[in-house]
Amino acid sequence: MILREVPRGFTTRFAPAPTGHLHLGHIVNAVWVWGLARAYDGRVILRIEDHDRGRCRPEFEQSILEDLEWLGLDADIAPISAFRAGRLPQRQSDNGARYEAALAELSSRGLAYACTCSRSEIERAWADTWAREQPGIPLLEGVEARYTGTCRHRQVPADATPARRVIMDAEDPVVFEDLRNGRAVQDPQRQCGDLLVRDRHGNFTYQFCVTVDDFDQGVNLVIRGEDLLESTGRQILLSRLLGRERAPEFLHHRLVRHPDGRKLSKSAGDTGVRELRAFGASPAAVLGRAAHLGGLPHDGSPIAADTLHRLFR
Ligand code: GLU
Repeated sequence: MILREVPRGFTTRFAPAPTGHLHLGHIVNAVWVWGLARAYDGRVILRIEDHDRGRCRPEFEQSILEDLEWLGLDADIAPISAFRAGRLPQRQSDNGARYEAALAELSSRGLAYACTCSRSEIERAWADTWAREQPGIPLLEGVEARYTGTCRHRQVPADATPARRVIMDAEDPVVFEDLRNGRAVQDPQRQCGDLLVRDRHGNFTYQFCVTVDDFDQGVNLVIRGEDLLESTGRQILLSRLLGRERAPEFLHHRLVRHPDGRKLSKSAGDTGVRELRAFGASPAAVLGRAAHLGGLPHDGSPIAADTLHRLFR
């Protein structure tokens, strides 16, 4: 497997959101995370990304822990037993005070502002901006709606809404070297505009929690699926605003998709680890299949958790 310089002794994380059971897509990520960590003396943190109180459920956390245990994948930091024992900062719903403090700090430096825009207002403003910037080209499907900055200069009072955005201005585009895909150049202001870090219900967003956590927890190599590649520039920029001097390294791997190109999803009941277990598959069979689907040089035959490092030698 040809990868650019993987830093020996890195710290990475496996970070599922408990909005459903684990499926093969997660296991592809797990094989990359644990395989690389074991091959390069790295350490794995388990992080439960339950920042979205509306969509996450404790029973899904339990099920994720059980499936990881069954697969033979435990973390070096915040292992399964620590999650079962009680509160810990690697469970995002236990870490709210830290996100509050990080946001308060950004606000005190004038880097965050309250935003009362509704989704439809944001989409309308974006459609107008698009029409001005791209005359004659219809709004293309799949292009991310950019926040055009409506509330940035409105001086919305802090108590009008819990929603906050962080100013994403940077002198230069963000450049990073993905360990698998090579150089990427991203401009968050042109992609997403000022970043929503807390929504109108008071939930901290994925982008914010993940960036604060990766910084606090010393994650210096993020290993995740290609669907999150577009998020990386904004996370690097946000990490700089939070005071992080050196952003983590990133590796984005292939995703498992349906034959028609759709991503696997938990909510759609896609190939769950539970179902594979009930069907009689062994942990090694599931890991071997995931290694193959995830683009690693492996024929899909069973591979035990404690030999995953061999995929990267
Ligand atoms: N929690 C995210 C997910 O389940 C992963 C976040 C990340 O790796 O940055 O998709």
